Amino acid sequence: MASNRNLRGSKHFTLQPLTDGVYACLHKPGGAAYSNAGIIELGDHTLLVDSFDSLAAGRDLRQTAESLLERPVGTIVLTHAHGDHWKGASVFDAETLLLASKTVRQVCLDRGPLMVEDMKDAAAWEKRLGETELQLRTEQDDRVRVGLERAVMRIGYAMAEMGEFRPRYADRTFEDTVLFQGSKRNAELRSLGCGHSEDDAVLFLPHDGVAFIGDIGFFDTQPFLGFCDIELYRRQLLFLQESDFKVLVPGHGPVGDKNDIALQLRYMDVLEDLVGTVAAGGGSLEEARQIMLPDPFDKWLMGGMARFDDNVRFFFARLGGEMRPDV
Ligand SMILES: [Zn+2]
Repeated sequence: MASNRNLRGSKHFTLQPLTDGVYACLHKPGGAAYSNAGIIELGDHTLLVDSFDSLAAGRDLRQTAESLLERPVGTIVLTHAHGDHWKGASVFDAETLLLASKTVRQVCLDRGPLMVEDMKDAAAWEKRLGETELQLRTEQDDRVRVGLERAVMRIGYAMAEMGEFRPRYADRTFEDTVLFQGSKRNAELRSLGCGHSEDDAVLFLPHDGVAFIGDIGFFDTQPFLGFCDIELYRRQLLFLQESDFKVLVPGHGPVGDKNDIALQLRYMDVLEDLVGTVAAGGGSLEEARQIMLPDPFDKWLMGGMARFDDNVRFFFARLGGEMRPDV
């Protein structure tokens, strides 16, 4: 059973108890987790939500869950197919069931071989590392420097395990909803369809008022819009805002609540308006990248500027901005 002496977390993540038998595993900056995960005691069964970005962090997640609940992990549910939530699943034995939606499994099957190919290309990773380190030597903007420093660490973690990585694909799939009925608590895994990614699932713990919402939530940090369907993404957020869940565990950032959902929606509106004004005035993508975000979103940039650039580019293209060949 859980005891305080076991509440260690890891150099890759912080272990935050939410209620008896429910833990948020929150990525530590500079660690190899890169995203959040969850450990849930159903009573007779340990359930994990997502599995981190790397084998190193996945191993610590497994060890932590096994030591907290003193048994092997029964099931891992994947919220979506982005690699930073999925790669760590490879360190679990076959006795741990990996469960994902039908769509997510298919996306993983499509991308897995490409990821393996990419991991084999040591020269490309050396080049990526060299370029990032070179840029770090001259970069003056602190926000950009933070992102570059984290990128150097992330590349280092990836390179350390490149020979070892084998994708683990879901053993079982679902389409809409899966109910877990444990002796201690029930959980409901539900697909909210396309939005942040091709298919995003959330795990509800109805009696605890807790929901693990994967990358539908990015709290205190910029959401990643690069591959999203923005209108469906907004709908996913609105659905959660109207739900009864008081404690929300996002895919990135600290544990929050519906106020964080409201802020994330506002970030999308503010960025869309600001980029739209530049695009409508015939401005360039470079000009759009100079936009100053208002408080509190300016502070969200401290995680690095790469996501901001992706998001500006996303809205600029969507709002009819002129993409010039030099950008
Ligand atoms: Zn994602």
